[in-house]
Amino acid sequence: MGNKRVKFVGVNSIKFNRQFKDDDSCYEYLASIKWDTGYTCKKCSCGKYCKGKRPYSRRCIRCCYDESATAGTMFDKCRFPLLIAFPIAFKISTKKKGMSSLELSKEFELRQKTCWEFKWKIQQAMQSSKQYKSGGEVHVDEFFIGGPEEQKRGRSKGKKKLVLLALEKVKDGVGRAYAQIIEDASADTFKPFFKSYIDKEANVVTDEWKGYTPLKNEYSKLKQIPSKEGDNFPDLHIHIMNLKGWLRGIHHHCNEDRLQGYLDEYHFRYNRRNAMDSMFDTLIKRMVTYEPKRLNQSAT
Ligand SMILES: [Zn+2]
Repeated sequence: MGNKRVKFVGVNSIKFNRQFKDDDSCYEYLASIKWDTGYTCKKCSCGKYCKGKRPYSRRCIRCCYDESATAGTMFDKCRFPLLIAFPIAFKISTKKKGMSSLELSKEFELRQKTCWEFKWKIQQAMQSSKQYKSGGEVHVDEFFIGGPEEQKRGRSKGKKKLVLLALEKVKDGVGRAYAQIIEDASADTFKPFFKSYIDKEANVVTDEWKGYTPLKNEYSKLKQIPSKEGDNFPDLHIHIMNLKGWLRGIHHHCNEDRLQGYLDEYHFRYNRRNAMDSMFDTLIKRMVTYEPKRLNQSAT
């Protein structure tokens, strides 16, 4: 038994169904990611194993602890077979608009709440790794989601959520984009977002809102220009329109508490739109290595 890393490349469902034809092929895939860098027993740190009882599980030769391919991954204690979990992850990662829990429940004959919970895990895995900071020219703006937009700032936001967006401009258009729900439009709230997503040397462009001004201390190239109702930020404007359109469309059941999950999902796909072929593998890899977070919101 070697450590051959199995890797699915592409977006074609026929090819996908051929590779993942039974639960075993899914277990094999998880195991190959999980032990890609080698095996160490979780209980006694021994480095040698033999074949375990379950498909692709590994059994420590010293203490006999049998670790399954799903243990410690987001697939652990999944309510349905991997043969269903894999296609769900495939559809959500490779379909341009993803799939709502309602659509998933119809296609895979599962309860909507079950799909909703699994999709929540997937959205957790789709969070930005914060490894790549936007550089060059970066446009930043905030906007409301979930209500009328007459008052952009100031007054109570009610049920609406304020979202901060950074969009990287590249030679022929737009590069990466990041969005995060924020509590208010103050410099203190902006700071952690800037720190996570924007390189200090970037040519940041914002409108003239006073909340951005103190950031010039750390972002010396930050420039504030008049918004002219968004005319000065056409790409940001288009991005926000598309994002809102998507949220309104198949995701109109979107729970406000889960908005960040949807923002993460949208930008996971958006930031990989030129690397569609490796999208599924990237997602599965993250689902194997990320710890699932506790579900504390109710389904809608
Ligand atoms: Zn052991």
